[in-house]
Amino acid sequence: MPEVVGKSSVQSKAGSANLEAMPLEPTPEIQSLWNDVHAAMRKEFGEAIFRSWLKPLTLRAYYHGTMEVSVPTRFMRDWIHTHYAERITQMCAAENPEIRRVQIVVVQNAISPDSESDSESAERKANQNNREGVASISSPLDPRFTFEGFVVGKPNALAHAAARRVVESMSVPFNPLFLYGGVGLGKTHLMHAIAWSMQENWPDRLVMYLSAEKFMYQFVKALRANDTMNFKDQFRSVDVLIIDDIQFIAGKESTQEEFFHTFNALVDQNKQIVISADRAPSDLAGIDERLRSRLAWGLVADIHPSSYDLRLGILESKRERLGASVPDSVLEFLALKVTSNIRELEGALNRIVAHAEVAKQDITLESTQEVLQDLLRAHDRKITIDEIQRKVAEHYNLRVSDMHSARRARNVARPRQVAMYLAKILTSRSLPEIGRKFGGRDHTTVMHAIRKIEQLMNEDAQIAQDVEVVRRALTG
Ligand code: ADP
Ligand code: MG
Repeated sequence: MPEVVGKSSVQSKAGSANLEAMPLEPTPEIQSLWNDVHAAMRKEFGEAIFRSWLKPLTLRAYYHGTMEVSVPTRFMRDWIHTHYAERITQMCAAENPEIRRVQIVVVQNAISPDSESDSESAERKANQNNREGVASISSPLDPRFTFEGFVVGKPNALAHAAARRVVESMSVPFNPLFLYGGVGLGKTHLMHAIAWSMQENWPDRLVMYLSAEKFMYQFVKALRANDTMNFKDQFRSVDVLIIDDIQFIAGKESTQEEFFHTFNALVDQNKQIVISADRAPSDLAGIDERLRSRLAWGLVADIHPSSYDLRLGILESKRERLGASVPDSVLEFLALKVTSNIRELEGALNRIVAHAEVAKQDITLESTQEVLQDLLRAHDRKITIDEIQRKVAEHYNLRVSDMHSARRARNVARPRQVAMYLAKILTSRSLPEIGRKFGGRDHTTVMHAIRKIEQLMNEDAQIAQDVEVVRRALTG
Protein backbone atom coordinates (compact mmCIF):
# COMPACT_ATOMS: atom_id res chain seq x y z
CA MET A 1 0.00 0.00 0.00
CA PRO A 2 2.68 2.60 0.81
CA GLU A 3 4.04 2.03 -2.70
CA VAL A 4 0.74 2.82 -4.29
CA VAL A 5 0.48 5.98 -2.34
CA GLY A 6 3.98 7.07 -3.26
CA LYS A 7 3.46 6.33 -6.92
CA SER A 8 0.25 8.22 -7.10
CA SER A 9 1.69 11.44 -5.81
CA VAL A 10 4.87 11.19 -7.85
CA GLN A 11 2.95 10.54 -11.02
CA SER A 12 0.68 13.46 -10.50
CA LYS A 13 3.59 15.70 -9.73
CA ALA A 14 5.21 14.84 -13.03
CA GLY A 15 1.99 15.23 -14.92
CA SER A 16 1.01 18.67 -13.80
CA ALA A 17 2.85 21.92 -13.42
CA ASN A 18 0.24 23.46 -11.21
CA LEU A 19 0.19 20.78 -8.57
CA GLU A 20 -1.02 22.84 -5.63
CA ALA A 21 -4.17 24.01 -7.33
CA MET A 22 -5.15 20.57 -8.59
CA PRO A 23 -7.03 18.32 -6.24
CA LEU A 24 -5.58 14.87 -6.81
CA GLU A 25 -8.13 12.13 -7.01
CA PRO A 26 -7.53 9.67 -4.21
CA THR A 27 -6.72 6.16 -5.40
CA PRO A 28 -9.28 3.43 -4.67
CA GLU A 29 -6.95 2.17 -1.95
CA ILE A 30 -6.86 5.51 -0.19
CA GLN A 31 -10.61 5.87 -0.61
CA SER A 32 -11.16 2.50 1.01
CA LEU A 33 -8.75 3.33 3.82
CA TRP A 34 -10.68 6.53 4.43
CA ASN A 35 -13.99 4.65 4.44
CA ASP A 36 -12.63 2.36 7.14
CA VAL A 37 -11.32 5.22 9.23
CA HIS A 38 -14.56 7.13 8.79
CA ALA A 39 -16.52 4.12 10.02
CA ALA A 40 -14.13 3.72 12.94
CA MET A 41 -14.79 7.32 14.01
CA ARG A 42 -18.40 6.47 14.63
CA LYS A 43 -17.33 3.81 17.15
CA GLU A 44 -14.65 5.90 18.72
CA PHE A 45 -16.50 9.21 19.15
CA GLY A 46 -20.02 7.92 19.52
CA GLU A 47 -23.13 8.30 17.44
CA ALA A 48 -24.08 11.87 18.49
CA ILE A 49 -20.71 13.44 17.74
CA PHE A 50 -20.37 11.45 14.58
CA ARG A 51 -23.68 12.57 13.19
CA SER A 52 -23.18 16.21 14.14
CA TRP A 53 -19.61 16.69 13.08
CA LEU A 54 -17.86 13.80 11.43
CA LYS A 55 -20.41 12.31 9.09
CA PRO A 56 -20.11 15.08 6.50
CA LEU A 57 -16.32 14.67 6.23
CA THR A 58 -15.66 13.71 2.61
CA LEU A 59 -12.33 12.62 1.17
CA ARG A 60 -11.33 14.90 -1.69
CA ALA A 61 -7.70 14.39 -2.46
CA TYR A 62 -4.49 12.73 -1.41
CA TYR A 63 -1.01 14.10 -1.96
CA HIS A 64 2.39 13.96 -0.27
CA GLY A 65 1.10 12.11 2.76
CA THR A 66 -1.78 14.56 3.20
CA MET A 67 -5.40 13.49 3.20
CA GLU A 68 -7.59 16.38 2.16
CA VAL A 69 -11.12 16.10 3.45
CA SER A 70 -13.92 18.58 3.09
CA VAL A 71 -16.73 19.88 5.29
CA PRO A 72 -19.54 22.26 4.33
CA THR A 73 -18.82 25.15 6.72
CA ARG A 74 -15.94 27.10 8.18
CA PHE A 75 -17.28 26.63 11.64
CA MET A 76 -17.28 22.85 11.25
CA ARG A 77 -13.78 22.95 9.92
CA ASP A 78 -12.52 24.95 12.89
CA TRP A 79 -14.34 22.79 15.36
CA ILE A 80 -13.12 19.51 13.90
CA HIS A 81 -9.67 20.97 13.58
CA THR A 82 -9.43 21.79 17.29
CA HIS A 83 -11.29 18.80 18.65
CA TYR A 84 -10.82 15.80 16.42
CA ALA A 85 -8.20 16.37 13.72
CA GLU A 86 -5.27 15.08 15.69
CA ARG A 87 -6.98 11.84 16.57
CA ILE A 88 -8.23 11.38 13.00
CA THR A 89 -4.68 11.81 11.71
CA GLN A 90 -3.48 9.14 14.15
CA MET A 91 -6.23 6.82 13.00
CA CYS A 92 -5.22 7.28 9.36
CA ALA A 93 -1.53 6.87 10.13
CA ALA A 94 -2.26 3.67 11.99
CA GLU A 95 -3.65 2.29 8.74
CA ASN A 96 -0.88 3.71 6.58
CA PRO A 97 2.22 5.31 8.14
CA GLU A 98 2.79 7.46 5.05
CA ILE A 99 -0.15 9.55 6.02
CA ARG A 100 1.12 12.39 8.15
CA ARG A 101 -1.54 15.00 7.85
CA VAL A 102 -5.27 15.40 7.51
CA GLN A 103 -6.17 18.70 6.00
CA ILE A 104 -9.73 19.92 6.40
CA VAL A 105 -11.05 22.27 3.75
CA VAL A 106 -14.37 24.01 3.36
CA VAL A 107 -16.42 23.10 0.33
CA GLN A 108 -19.94 24.41 0.33
CA ASN A 109 -22.56 21.75 -0.33
CA ALA A 110 -19.88 19.18 0.30
CA ILE A 111 -22.53 16.55 0.88
CA SER A 112 -23.21 15.11 -2.52
CA PRO A 113 -26.89 14.82 -3.43
CA ASP A 114 -26.45 11.21 -4.61
CA SER A 115 -25.77 10.06 -1.08
CA GLU A 116 -29.14 11.39 0.05
CA SER A 117 -31.97 9.01 0.65
CA ASP A 118 -35.38 9.83 -0.83
CA SER A 119 -36.70 11.06 2.46
CA GLU A 120 -33.67 13.26 2.96
CA SER A 121 -34.11 14.74 -0.46
CA ALA A 122 -37.83 15.32 0.12
CA GLU A 123 -36.95 17.03 3.35
CA ARG A 124 -34.48 19.20 1.52
CA LYS A 125 -37.10 20.26 -1.00
CA ALA A 126 -39.59 21.10 1.72
CA ASN A 127 -36.89 23.10 3.43
CA GLN A 128 -36.22 24.95 0.24
CA ASN A 129 -39.85 26.08 0.09
CA ASN A 130 -39.85 27.04 3.73
CA ARG A 131 -36.64 28.96 3.25
CA GLU A 132 -38.28 31.12 0.66
CA GLY A 133 -41.34 31.72 2.82
CA VAL A 134 -39.24 32.47 5.87
CA ALA A 135 -36.94 34.75 3.92
CA SER A 136 -39.93 36.83 2.89
CA ILE A 137 -41.04 37.32 6.50
CA SER A 138 -37.63 37.73 8.12
CA SER A 139 -36.40 41.32 8.44
CA PRO A 140 -33.13 42.34 6.81
CA LEU A 141 -30.03 42.24 8.99
CA ASP A 142 -27.85 45.30 9.45
CA PRO A 143 -24.37 44.50 8.11
CA ARG A 144 -22.78 46.55 10.89
CA PHE A 145 -24.44 44.55 13.65
CA THR A 146 -22.02 41.64 13.91
CA PHE A 147 -20.10 40.07 16.78
CA GLU A 148 -16.91 41.61 15.37
CA GLY A 149 -18.48 45.05 15.65
CA PHE A 150 -19.72 44.50 19.18
CA VAL A 151 -17.52 45.83 21.96
CA VAL A 152 -17.70 43.74 25.11
CA GLY A 153 -17.52 45.26 28.57
CA LYS A 154 -18.77 44.46 31.99
CA PRO A 155 -22.32 45.79 31.41
CA ASN A 156 -22.96 43.50 28.43
CA ALA A 157 -20.59 40.61 29.12
CA LEU A 158 -23.26 38.14 30.21
CA ALA A 159 -25.58 38.90 27.30
CA HIS A 160 -22.69 38.67 24.87
CA ALA A 161 -21.42 35.36 26.28
CA ALA A 162 -24.92 33.90 26.15
CA ALA A 163 -25.36 35.03 22.55
CA ARG A 164 -22.10 33.38 21.60
CA ARG A 165 -23.08 30.17 23.32
CA VAL A 166 -26.23 30.06 21.24
CA VAL A 167 -24.34 30.27 17.94
CA GLU A 168 -21.51 28.00 18.96
CA SER A 169 -23.57 25.19 20.42
CA MET A 170 -24.45 22.12 18.49
CA SER A 171 -27.64 21.77 20.46
CA VAL A 172 -29.84 24.34 22.18
CA PRO A 173 -27.98 25.54 25.29
CA PHE A 174 -30.95 27.32 26.86
CA ASN A 175 -34.40 28.13 25.66
CA PRO A 176 -35.29 30.85 25.26
CA LEU A 177 -32.38 33.22 25.51
CA PHE A 178 -34.06 36.34 26.87
CA LEU A 179 -32.09 39.59 26.52
CA TYR A 180 -33.31 42.76 28.12
CA GLY A 181 -32.11 46.27 28.78
CA GLY A 182 -32.85 49.94 28.20
CA VAL A 183 -33.05 51.72 24.87
CA GLY A 184 -29.93 51.87 22.72
CA LEU A 185 -27.81 49.48 24.75
CA GLY A 186 -27.21 46.92 22.02
CA LYS A 187 -30.05 44.38 22.15
CA THR A 188 -30.85 44.58 18.46
CA HIS A 189 -27.16 44.59 17.61
CA LEU A 190 -26.64 41.34 19.52
CA MET A 191 -29.67 39.70 17.95
CA HIS A 192 -28.52 40.53 14.44
CA ALA A 193 -25.09 39.22 15.39
CA ILE A 194 -26.70 35.94 16.45
CA ALA A 195 -28.55 35.73 13.14
CA TRP A 196 -25.46 36.53 11.03
CA SER A 197 -23.27 34.17 12.89
CA MET A 198 -25.83 31.39 12.92
CA GLN A 199 -26.15 31.61 9.14
CA GLU A 200 -22.43 31.43 8.77
CA ASN A 201 -21.75 28.66 11.26
CA TRP A 202 -24.76 26.54 10.49
CA PRO A 203 -25.95 27.22 6.96
CA ASP A 204 -28.46 24.38 7.23
CA ARG A 205 -30.35 26.05 10.04
CA LEU A 206 -33.26 28.19 9.05
CA VAL A 207 -33.07 31.50 10.90
CA MET A 208 -35.90 33.98 11.23
CA TYR A 209 -35.39 37.43 12.73
CA LEU A 210 -38.18 39.94 13.15
CA SER A 211 -39.65 42.41 15.60
CA ALA A 212 -42.67 41.45 17.70
CA GLU A 213 -44.45 44.23 15.87
CA LYS A 214 -43.85 42.54 12.55
CA PHE A 215 -44.90 39.21 14.02
CA MET A 216 -48.19 40.77 14.92
CA TYR A 217 -48.57 42.38 11.52
CA GLN A 218 -47.95 39.04 9.80
CA PHE A 219 -50.39 37.32 12.08
CA VAL A 220 -53.15 39.86 11.53
CA LYS A 221 -52.55 39.72 7.79
CA ALA A 222 -52.86 35.93 7.85
CA LEU A 223 -56.06 36.15 9.88
CA ARG A 224 -57.59 38.55 7.37
CA ALA A 225 -56.57 36.39 4.44
CA ASN A 226 -57.87 33.29 6.21
CA ASP A 227 -54.43 31.82 5.84
CA THR A 228 -53.32 31.08 9.37
CA MET A 229 -52.30 27.53 8.41
CA ASN A 230 -49.57 28.84 6.19
CA PHE A 231 -48.54 31.33 8.86
CA LYS A 232 -48.24 28.57 11.44
CA ASP A 233 -46.31 26.32 9.07
CA GLN A 234 -43.82 28.98 8.30
CA PHE A 235 -43.09 29.91 11.88
CA ARG A 236 -42.93 26.31 12.98
CA SER A 237 -40.48 25.31 10.29
CA VAL A 238 -37.66 27.56 11.49
CA ASP A 239 -34.67 26.30 13.47
CA VAL A 240 -33.92 29.61 15.12
CA LEU A 241 -36.58 32.20 15.87
CA ILE A 242 -35.37 35.63 16.97
CA ILE A 243 -38.01 38.11 18.09
CA ASP A 244 -37.03 41.66 18.97
CA ASP A 245 -38.90 43.97 21.38
CA ILE A 246 -41.46 41.49 22.67
CA GLN A 247 -42.91 44.19 24.95
CA PHE A 248 -44.73 45.39 21.84
CA ILE A 249 -47.33 42.62 22.10
CA ALA A 250 -48.34 43.66 25.62
CA GLY A 251 -52.10 43.92 25.70
CA LYS A 252 -52.46 42.29 22.26
CA GLU A 253 -54.18 39.15 23.41
CA SER A 254 -54.72 37.13 20.27
CA THR A 255 -51.20 37.83 19.05
CA GLN A 256 -49.86 36.68 22.41
CA GLU A 257 -51.93 33.55 22.21
CA GLU A 258 -50.57 32.74 18.77
CA PHE A 259 -47.05 33.56 19.85
CA PHE A 260 -47.42 31.31 22.88
CA HIS A 261 -48.37 28.37 20.67
CA THR A 262 -45.55 29.05 18.23
CA PHE A 263 -43.15 29.31 21.13
CA ASN A 264 -44.26 26.01 22.63
CA ALA A 265 -44.20 24.19 19.30
CA LEU A 266 -40.63 25.31 18.66
CA VAL A 267 -39.44 24.52 22.17
CA ASP A 268 -40.97 21.07 21.88
CA GLN A 269 -38.99 20.46 18.70
CA ASN A 270 -35.88 21.71 20.48
CA LYS A 271 -35.53 24.76 18.23
CA GLN A 272 -33.69 27.82 19.51
CA ILE A 273 -35.65 30.92 20.47
CA VAL A 274 -34.11 34.30 21.24
CA ILE A 275 -36.23 37.14 22.60
CA SER A 276 -35.48 40.72 23.56
CA ALA A 277 -37.42 43.19 25.63
CA ASP A 278 -36.93 46.49 27.36
CA ARG A 279 -37.49 44.87 30.76
CA ALA A 280 -37.33 41.56 32.61
CA PRO A 281 -39.99 38.92 31.91
CA SER A 282 -41.56 39.38 35.32
CA ASP A 283 -41.95 43.13 34.68
CA LEU A 284 -43.72 42.78 31.36
CA ALA A 285 -47.08 44.25 32.19
CA GLY A 286 -49.90 43.32 29.85
CA ILE A 287 -48.36 39.99 28.98
CA ASP A 288 -50.19 36.88 30.01
CA GLU A 289 -48.82 35.18 33.11
CA ARG A 290 -48.32 31.81 31.32
CA LEU A 291 -46.24 33.44 28.62
CA ARG A 292 -44.28 35.56 31.08
CA SER A 293 -43.24 32.56 33.09
CA ARG A 294 -42.31 30.66 29.93
CA LEU A 295 -40.12 33.53 28.80
CA ALA A 296 -38.10 33.20 31.98
CA TRP A 297 -37.50 29.48 31.57
CA GLY A 298 -34.21 29.65 29.77
CA LEU A 299 -31.43 32.14 30.35
CA VAL A 300 -32.38 35.71 31.20
CA ALA A 301 -29.50 38.11 30.59
CA ASP A 302 -29.72 41.84 31.14
CA ILE A 303 -27.62 44.52 29.52
CA HIS A 304 -26.73 47.15 32.08
CA PRO A 305 -26.35 50.82 31.35
CA SER A 306 -22.94 51.39 29.81
CA SER A 307 -19.84 52.09 31.87
CA TYR A 308 -17.22 54.71 31.08
CA ASP A 309 -14.80 52.02 29.87
CA LEU A 310 -17.31 50.44 27.57
CA ARG A 311 -18.28 53.78 26.10
CA LEU A 312 -14.65 54.61 25.48
CA GLY A 313 -14.07 51.18 23.90
CA ILE A 314 -17.03 51.66 21.59
CA LEU A 315 -15.82 55.13 20.58
CA GLU A 316 -12.34 53.79 19.85
CA SER A 317 -13.71 50.99 17.71
CA LYS A 318 -15.99 53.40 15.92
CA ARG A 319 -13.14 55.85 15.31
CA GLU A 320 -11.13 53.09 13.73
CA ARG A 321 -14.01 52.07 11.52
CA LEU A 322 -14.62 55.66 10.42
CA GLY A 323 -10.91 56.11 9.82
CA ALA A 324 -11.29 59.56 11.33
CA SER A 325 -8.59 61.34 13.25
CA VAL A 326 -10.16 62.15 16.57
CA PRO A 327 -7.91 62.93 19.55
CA ASP A 328 -8.13 60.60 22.56
CA SER A 329 -9.08 63.54 24.74
CA VAL A 330 -12.22 64.05 22.66
CA LEU A 331 -13.20 60.40 22.96
CA GLU A 332 -12.65 60.54 26.71
CA PHE A 333 -14.74 63.67 26.92
CA LEU A 334 -17.60 62.06 25.01
CA ALA A 335 -17.40 58.87 27.07
CA LEU A 336 -17.68 60.96 30.19
CA LYS A 337 -20.48 63.21 29.01
CA VAL A 338 -22.77 61.22 26.75
CA THR A 339 -23.92 58.53 29.11
CA SER A 340 -27.57 57.94 28.25
CA ASN A 341 -27.17 55.29 25.57
CA ILE A 342 -24.86 53.99 22.89
CA ARG A 343 -26.95 55.22 20.00
CA GLU A 344 -26.64 58.78 21.23
CA LEU A 345 -22.93 58.30 21.83
CA GLU A 346 -22.39 57.12 18.26
CA GLY A 347 -24.54 59.99 17.03
CA ALA A 348 -22.34 62.48 18.89
CA LEU A 349 -19.17 61.08 17.33
CA ASN A 350 -20.73 61.08 13.86
CA ARG A 351 -21.72 64.69 14.31
CA ILE A 352 -18.29 65.95 15.21
CA VAL A 353 -16.65 63.95 12.44
CA ALA A 354 -19.15 65.23 9.87
CA HIS A 355 -18.73 68.79 11.11
CA ALA A 356 -14.94 68.61 10.87
CA GLU A 357 -15.19 67.34 7.30
CA VAL A 358 -17.56 70.05 6.17
CA ALA A 359 -15.73 72.83 8.00
CA LYS A 360 -12.35 71.36 6.97
CA GLN A 361 -11.13 71.71 10.53
CA ASP A 362 -9.33 69.44 12.90
CA ILE A 363 -11.36 67.96 15.69
CA THR A 364 -10.46 69.44 19.06
CA LEU A 365 -11.99 69.47 22.49
CA GLU A 366 -13.16 73.04 21.87
CA SER A 367 -14.79 72.32 18.51
CA THR A 368 -16.46 69.28 20.05
CA GLN A 369 -17.96 71.29 22.87
CA GLU A 370 -19.21 73.82 20.38
CA VAL A 371 -20.71 71.33 17.93
CA LEU A 372 -22.42 69.37 20.67
CA GLN A 373 -23.59 72.36 22.68
CA ASP A 374 -27.26 71.44 22.62
CA LEU A 375 -26.64 67.80 23.44
CA LEU A 376 -24.29 68.57 26.31
CA ARG A 377 -26.63 71.17 27.74
CA ALA A 378 -29.46 68.66 27.74
CA HIS A 379 -27.21 66.29 29.62
CA ASP A 380 -26.14 68.83 32.17
CA ARG A 381 -29.79 69.61 32.86
CA LYS A 382 -28.52 71.98 35.51
CA ILE A 383 -27.87 69.32 38.07
CA THR A 384 -25.98 71.01 40.87
CA ILE A 385 -23.20 69.70 43.02
CA ASP A 386 -25.32 70.39 46.10
CA GLU A 387 -28.00 68.16 44.71
CA ILE A 388 -25.49 65.42 43.98
CA GLN A 389 -24.10 65.62 47.50
CA ARG A 390 -27.57 65.42 48.98
CA LYS A 391 -28.54 62.38 46.93
CA VAL A 392 -25.29 60.56 47.59
CA ALA A 393 -25.50 61.24 51.33
CA GLU A 394 -29.07 60.03 51.35
CA HIS A 395 -28.16 56.87 49.45
CA TYR A 396 -25.35 55.99 51.83
CA ASN A 397 -27.14 57.17 54.94
CA LEU A 398 -24.64 59.89 55.67
CA ARG A 399 -24.94 63.56 56.57
CA VAL A 400 -24.44 66.08 53.79
CA SER A 401 -21.68 67.64 55.89
CA ASP A 402 -19.71 64.40 55.47
CA MET A 403 -19.27 65.43 51.84
CA HIS A 404 -17.22 68.47 52.90
CA SER A 405 -15.57 67.09 55.98
CA ALA A 406 -11.99 66.00 56.30
CA ARG A 407 -12.93 62.56 57.61
CA ARG A 408 -11.10 59.85 55.73
CA ALA A 409 -12.79 56.72 57.03
CA ARG A 410 -13.62 54.47 54.10
CA ASN A 411 -17.38 54.52 54.76
CA VAL A 412 -17.33 58.29 54.28
CA ALA A 413 -14.46 58.70 51.84
CA ARG A 414 -15.83 56.29 49.24
CA PRO A 415 -19.27 57.91 48.99
CA ARG A 416 -17.53 61.27 48.76
CA GLN A 417 -15.53 59.97 45.80
CA VAL A 418 -18.75 58.74 44.22
CA ALA A 419 -20.19 62.22 44.60
CA MET A 420 -17.10 63.80 43.00
CA TYR A 421 -17.32 61.36 40.13
CA LEU A 422 -20.99 62.19 39.61
CA ALA A 423 -20.20 65.90 39.78
CA LYS A 424 -17.75 65.40 36.95
CA ILE A 425 -20.06 63.44 34.68
CA LEU A 426 -23.29 65.25 35.44
CA THR A 427 -22.21 68.89 35.59
CA SER A 428 -19.93 71.08 33.52
CA ARG A 429 -17.88 72.13 36.58
CA SER A 430 -14.11 71.98 36.28
CA LEU A 431 -12.01 69.84 38.61
CA PRO A 432 -10.89 72.79 40.79
CA GLU A 433 -14.49 73.98 41.06
CA ILE A 434 -15.57 70.52 42.14
CA GLY A 435 -12.70 70.37 44.64
CA ARG A 436 -13.81 73.63 46.21
CA LYS A 437 -17.34 72.28 46.67
CA PHE A 438 -15.96 69.30 48.55
CA GLY A 439 -14.43 71.14 51.46
CA GLY A 440 -11.73 72.89 49.44
CA ARG A 441 -9.98 69.81 48.12
CA ASP A 442 -7.30 69.95 45.48
CA HIS A 443 -8.14 69.20 41.82
CA THR A 444 -5.73 66.24 41.86
CA THR A 445 -7.76 64.73 44.70
CA VAL A 446 -10.85 65.05 42.51
CA MET A 447 -9.06 63.49 39.56
CA HIS A 448 -7.94 60.63 41.74
CA ALA A 449 -11.49 60.10 43.00
CA ILE A 450 -12.86 59.96 39.46
CA ARG A 451 -10.25 57.42 38.36
CA LYS A 452 -10.83 55.35 41.46
CA ILE A 453 -14.57 55.17 40.98
CA GLU A 454 -14.22 54.38 37.29
CA GLN A 455 -11.93 51.54 38.17
CA LEU A 456 -14.14 50.27 41.00
CA MET A 457 -17.21 50.36 38.78
CA ASN A 458 -15.55 47.75 36.63
CA GLU A 459 -14.44 45.59 39.50
CA ASP A 460 -17.15 45.94 42.07
CA ALA A 461 -20.77 45.41 41.08
CA GLN A 462 -22.00 47.05 44.27
CA ILE A 463 -20.26 50.33 43.51
CA ALA A 464 -21.42 50.21 39.91
CA GLN A 465 -24.96 49.76 41.09
CA ASP A 466 -24.72 52.50 43.73
CA VAL A 467 -23.45 54.96 41.16
CA GLU A 468 -26.14 53.98 38.71
CA VAL A 469 -28.94 54.28 41.24
CA VAL A 470 -27.88 57.75 42.30
CA ARG A 471 -27.25 58.82 38.73
CA ARG A 472 -30.74 57.75 37.75
CA ALA A 473 -32.25 59.47 40.75
CA LEU A 474 -30.56 62.67 39.61
CA THR A 475 -31.18 62.48 35.87
CA GLY A 476 -34.34 60.48 35.58
P1 ADP B 1 -31.31 48.49 21.47
O1 ADP B 1 -31.84 47.47 20.52
O2 ADP B 1 -30.92 47.91 22.78
O3 ADP B 1 -32.21 49.67 21.62
P2 ADP B 1 -29.25 48.79 19.47
O4 ADP B 1 -28.81 47.38 19.37
O5 ADP B 1 -30.10 49.31 18.38
O6 ADP B 1 -29.96 49.05 20.87
O7 ADP B 1 -27.94 49.69 19.65
C1 ADP B 1 -27.92 51.08 19.39
C2 ADP B 1 -26.65 51.45 18.67
O8 ADP B 1 -25.55 51.29 19.56
C3 ADP B 1 -26.37 50.59 17.46
O9 ADP B 1 -25.81 51.38 16.44
C4 ADP B 1 -25.36 49.59 17.96
O10 ADP B 1 -24.48 49.16 16.94
C5 ADP B 1 -24.60 50.39 19.00
N1 ADP B 1 -24.07 49.55 20.10
C6 ADP B 1 -24.72 49.18 21.22
N2 ADP B 1 -23.93 48.42 22.00
C7 ADP B 1 -22.76 48.30 21.34
C8 ADP B 1 -21.53 47.63 21.63
N3 ADP B 1 -21.36 46.95 22.77
N4 ADP B 1 -20.54 47.71 20.73
C9 ADP B 1 -20.69 48.42 19.58
N5 ADP B 1 -21.81 49.08 19.25
C10 ADP B 1 -22.84 49.02 20.12
MG1 MG C 1 -33.65 47.44 19.47
